[in-house]
Amino acid sequence: PPLLEARITRKCYHGPGGTVEAVGNLSLTIAPGEFVCLIGPSGCGKTTTLRILLGLDRDFEGQVTPDPRDLAIGVAFQEPRLLPWRTVEQNIRLALPAGRRQRNLDHLLADFGLVAWRARYPGALSLGLARRVSLARALADDPPLLVLDEPFVSLDDRAAGELRALVLAAAQDHGMSVLMVTHNIREALWLADRLVLLSPRPAHVLGEVVLDAPRL
Ligand code: ADP
Ligand code: ADP
Repeated sequence: PPLLEARITRKCYHGPGGTVEAVGNLSLTIAPGEFVCLIGPSGCGKTTTLRILLGLDRDFEGQVTPDPRDLAIGVAFQEPRLLPWRTVEQNIRLALPAGRRQRNLDHLLADFGLVAWRARYPGALSLGLARRVSLARALADDPPLLVLDEPFVSLDDRAAGELRALVLAAAQDHGMSVLMVTHNIREALWLADRLVLLSPRPAHVLGEVVLDAPRL
């Protein structure tokens, strides 16, 4: 059975300028252990779709099963959103239930090259490091599903490449599913098991490509 299954019939935003239909008839399933990349034009409804899948937006027509509130989902957005008054280590620890897995945290800090930064505050970090912390935090509680919204944009090639490899290794080592929004088709071809191509707004699935060959 799929890990997550979404059928979004319709999602509209209502504002003073009128109604915007952001998503229409979008069906998406994610299998356990599968790495899925969502690709579509700017403004087509990708972030809206992710918010619905995460249970952050419940004002839509359709269904997501299981209820996202019953699934531990790790999330990292383009903007790292770290708490500035907490250290790197505290930011990651806050994603863990109290008292859990100090050992896991040490491994995570080591894997992500953050040991030297664990006692620093987010204001002292480059964007690349802040994204690392945000990804480590998303992985801290070993979620079955990781949702990423453009996690590698605005990084130099080296920083982006290192982070991609870390995410892929974490996914493979833990049998985790990943759903990632990206504009970078080469990145998607390298990472994904399946590409889902979305239409211009309102987003629906134009087509899917299964990449069953070794990573390109
Ligand atoms: P994408 O992530 O693909 O760029 P979004 O899901 O962010 O697209 O947005 C889809 C459409 O919905 C866009 O036209 C956007 O302007 C509109 N939209 C997004 N959020 C809101 C909101 N809170 N209120 C009104 N319109 C919104
Ligand atoms: P580019 O021309 O941008 O370097 P490539 O076609 O070489 O892209 O690879 C596609 C994407 O996958 C690249 O952006 C690259 O960072 C990433 N990538 C390829 N191989 C690796 C690897 N061994 N480790 C991490 N990232 C990789």
